Amino acid sequence: MSALDIARASAFLVVVVFTLYIVFDSVRQLVRQMKSVNPDPERSGDVGKRIKLVLVNVMGQKKMLRNPAGYGHLVIFYGFILITIISFEVFIRAFIHSFNFGFLGFGYDFLLFMEDLFSIAVLIALTIGFIRRYVEKPLRFQDKFETDKRLNRDATIILFAVALHIIFATLLEAFEIRLGEHPNPDAPFLASWLAGMFNGGNLEFVREIVWWVHVATVWVFMIYIFGTQIRVPQRYASKHFHILAAAVNVFFSNIKPAGRLAPINFEDESLEIYGVSKIEEFKWPQLLNAYSCTGCGRCQELCPAYINDQPLSPKALILNIREQALAQATINHSGNTETELKTSLIGDALPLDMIWACTTCGACQDACPVFIEHVDKIIDIRRYQVLMESEFPSGVEKVFHGIETNSNPWNISKSDRDLWADGLDLKRMKDHPDTEILFWVGCAGSFDERAQKVSTALVKILKAANIDFAILGKEEKCTGDPARRIGNEYLAQELMTQNVKLLNSYKFKQVLTFCPHCFNNLANELPDFGGHYRVIHGVDFVSKLLDDGKIKLDTSKPMDITYHDSCYLGRHNGIYSAPRKIMNHFSGVNFVEMDMNQEKGLCCGAGGGRMFYELEGGSDINKMRISQAESTGSDFIGVSCPFCAIMLEDGKKNMDSDIEIIDLMEIVSTRLITT
Ligand code: SF4
Ligand code: SF4
Ligand code: SF4
Repeated sequence: MSALDIARASAFLVVVVFTLYIVFDSVRQLVRQMKSVNPDPERSGDVGKRIKLVLVNVMGQKKMLRNPAGYGHLVIFYGFILITIISFEVFIRAFIHSFNFGFLGFGYDFLLFMEDLFSIAVLIALTIGFIRRYVEKPLRFQDKFETDKRLNRDATIILFAVALHIIFATLLEAFEIRLGEHPNPDAPFLASWLAGMFNGGNLEFVREIVWWVHVATVWVFMIYIFGTQIRVPQRYASKHFHILAAAVNVFFSNIKPAGRLAPINFEDESLEIYGVSKIEEFKWPQLLNAYSCTGCGRCQELCPAYINDQPLSPKALILNIREQALAQATINHSGNTETELKTSLIGDALPLDMIWACTTCGACQDACPVFIEHVDKIIDIRRYQVLMESEFPSGVEKVFHGIETNSNPWNISKSDRDLWADGLDLKRMKDHPDTEILFWVGCAGSFDERAQKVSTALVKILKAANIDFAILGKEEKCTGDPARRIGNEYLAQELMTQNVKLLNSYKFKQVLTFCPHCFNNLANELPDFGGHYRVIHGVDFVSKLLDDGKIKLDTSKPMDITYHDSCYLGRHNGIYSAPRKIMNHFSGVNFVEMDMNQEKGLCCGAGGGRMFYELEGGSDINKMRISQAESTGSDFIGVSCPFCAIMLEDGKKNMDSDIEIIDLMEIVSTRLITT
């Protein structure tokens, strides 16, 4: 071994040990922080299901591929893995100068060929990524918030580091070929072509420099990504920590129904704080979420609040939590427990109007390729504001009061709940406790004039199909959904407990409702309170009636219609096909999708209790949805949610729009052929 070889090996060893120390220490500090916050018993078990999630979504990049840009990421992802494997060969050469993977035989040739192919593909993908981020600037890369600007700087550093690494890997091979040191000079076609260009000069010296630059890009890259997590001001921390955290985050992601909120256990006397106001009050998966964010902005481009210039970006929400969590981890790392954070979580990192702007539509978390959950964090902070501080937007107090006194958010007398059914001759469960189908009407269907028409339409359909059903009548109460999404978990749990007690006293086989909010609560949230029921939404029920030939429709009337997906039916419960199937039953119907449909459907703006309070800033979400519907050229917007109908009707006002909002139950009921 020459003196140069010994010097190279020693220097390389020092760099490796130092880098690995930085990596392990940073990871250890963040893991320690996560272990010190609240536990989450819901994130263990179901290992097989979790492994499958990782395989499909990390290795298969399933969510990424929903958008064409995802293919660029796929190339970078696999190209990076391949190039990393081959980098090990280069690293080992620090100690064994002539080492190579030649013992793999043909596999080695293939690896070298693929390396060059991927190098070209990755460089093209990086260039496209650069143009998209800085020239095209789609909504997801726009920087309305400070954190977005920092992201751009970080992305640029990483983009250049990866490009540099690839370029120098190819150059290194080219020099090895030129110097006759490469075992398979024909396999890496790009390097082979480049080798022909190098003539004269001290090629060995240049090869040495190229080797160092190539390996340095890896170690500098790792020190930058991991070392900046807890050692520098958080605004300089790299978001590329996700290369490690994201897969772990997917593994530990929520596998319960998307629309369900985890309850607070009010019987747990050790709980002194309800909700979250500080980093240490989050549960550990919530911090892992924050550390896994790639800053891709896929959440932001679908967020109805962000699109409408309201003061909320789900990306900024997560990245701001991340910065705050890192600041806390840095203090923990320093060992100075007396030090306090310079900024507060609520107010500084997360302004309250950001928290109240959310409609809980779930578009952000459905789009997030690494399964980050935004809604639970927003709800936790709302819970703190409502339960600990009694602070909420004006208008909300009326909702709480209405639910408390009259069991509905409009505070209409509870004795009026079944007035809509006068003259319809409907059975009540209390008189017929064994009725097969319990029709849960919901507050909107009971009290709102527009939604009452949908209740009546569904009754007409059920009667036409000879379905044995009954309503609860005056016994029915709000599910607690608006109170729960606004943060009043205590009030919501009171309602849910009472509802379970009532429902468990009857012997129905199925609960039918046309309100997606009620559906979500009855199907996904009541099980936490002892209520386990077969719940079906009106669109699924009616679609089945049509399939089974239990109702017949007049299909002759033409109609130009588009469809607005309700978030709580679609994204939160995966019901997309039933409403479309219903529309396909009408031969005269010309059904046109809006650009934002199904998983990408734009919320109407009602969810999360937003229907009941106004915020300053931005434009109205419901008006944007009306415009989107109008651009399809349709005369009607089909809906399957009473709240969507109310919001869209409201949006139409002052818009000079002729488009009509119609619930699918109404279309079916007006086309029934009765014999
Ligand atoms: S749930 Fe909807 S409104 Fe709330 S942050 Fe996510 S996308 Fe935006
Ligand atoms: S939260 Fe998810 S979708 Fe949003 S920027 Fe982060 S990784 Fe992307
Ligand atoms: S969840 Fe909504 S529609 Fe259902 S009962 Fe409560 S307020 Fe009414």
